Amino acid sequence: MKREMSSRAYKAAQNYIPGGVNSPVRAFRSVGLDPIFVESGRGSRIFDIDGNGYIDYVCSWGPLILGHSHDDLVGKVTETARKGLSFGLSTQAEVEMARIIVESYIVDSKPAIDLVRMVNSGTEATMSALRAARAYTRRDKILKFEGCYHGHSDAMLVKSGSGALTYGVPTSLGVPEDVIKHTLVGRYNDCEQLREIFKAHGHEIAAVIVEPVVGNVGVISAGHEFLRAMRELCTEHGSVLIFDEVITGFRLSYNSAAGYFGIAPDMACFGKIIGGGLPVGAYGGKADIMKTVSPLGGAYQAGTLSGNPLAMHVGMKQLQILRDNPEIYGRLDSMGSRLANGLRQAVSDLGLDYTVNQVGSLVCLFFAGGSITDYDGVMRCDVPRFNKYFKLMLDRGILLAPTQFEAMFISAAHTDADIEYTLECCRESLREVSRDEG
Ligand SMILES: *Cc1c(COP(=O)(O)O)cnc(C)c1O
Repeated sequence: MKREMSSRAYKAAQNYIPGGVNSPVRAFRSVGLDPIFVESGRGSRIFDIDGNGYIDYVCSWGPLILGHSHDDLVGKVTETARKGLSFGLSTQAEVEMARIIVESYIVDSKPAIDLVRMVNSGTEATMSALRAARAYTRRDKILKFEGCYHGHSDAMLVKSGSGALTYGVPTSLGVPEDVIKHTLVGRYNDCEQLREIFKAHGHEIAAVIVEPVVGNVGVISAGHEFLRAMRELCTEHGSVLIFDEVITGFRLSYNSAAGYFGIAPDMACFGKIIGGGLPVGAYGGKADIMKTVSPLGGAYQAGTLSGNPLAMHVGMKQLQILRDNPEIYGRLDSMGSRLANGLRQAVSDLGLDYTVNQVGSLVCLFFAGGSITDYDGVMRCDVPRFNKYFKLMLDRGILLAPTQFEAMFISAAHTDADIEYTLECCRESLREVSRDEG
């Protein structure tokens, strides 16, 4: 498969954009290839500027749960744009959007959040939620878990340090030690450590933030027990439990991860799906917590383009389609299972010891054996082998995320035939990879 135009575009891009990309994963660096430049997308397919078509499992990293350029969403863009692109003043669409989110976020027949503030990205949502939680509790410390990604704000760019388990070190240059000294880092799915952390620091912890299913190091589901322990410890110690639902929101179910697991957090962050492909984020929580946010309270947070009419109308349309067609989730789940089971079959037929994790429409083939339930498990993966597999899949017209450490995203536009063809390509690519290595 030729990708000369993309390679040429990439060279030109590097003259004007750092690394030629506006988000690092797009550079395909971890797989050692030139990135593709996209021309268009339609349904489950994406087309590059060389004219190659691929079945897309990136789906813009999650937002496109209905696939590319869904007619109703594209229609909303043009309809809305004719009335104006931005006002920086209130519109009814913002209210409607907030209502849809609150009314969807149901656990045990009750809304888990009361008030929602719209922002422009997932990063902004988590950053702002943490500020509100700190304002509400008048505490500074935050607990996150290794392998969870919560955007690129300073306080969240932290991994666990060696030795002392819970104090983190920055994962990026430019993040002051002073800023992250308030961020504790725990091991995902480790209830015992969680209890220890609360025993030592519970009275200082403003918030615990977690991806209920980790979608940023492949796919790892939280155990029920882990989420339940977190819920109980936060209640007991007066800490705010924040579910980062930027991936899981409206993906695991219409009631998001909270509904899926039946566990209510105190706050939730959204992004990706709620914008339908337009830049958006949102954070919400219990009224008492959200009342700390300005203009009601002293926690400042603002945004010139927040609640942008295009993002509101397109996002809302996507959410309405999901709400009014609940069978979509059944289809996504069954395609996810089919893909995961097919991958497991392919792996076992070839005598390979690889693990497949799946939660609904999120699937990951880990190039490592055994059960993978935390970051350390993911780090056992044979990355060079994945990279070969990625290239073989790309050449067969299957676009995976260009790194081992991301999920495959299935959309409602994917067909059973897409899944079957993908599995055929997986079998051949895995066979080639294992043959090469003997
Ligand atoms: C993508 C993502 C974010 C960051 O969202 P951006 O819109 O990229 O800033 C935060 N949390 C999770 C779980 C994500 O997957």
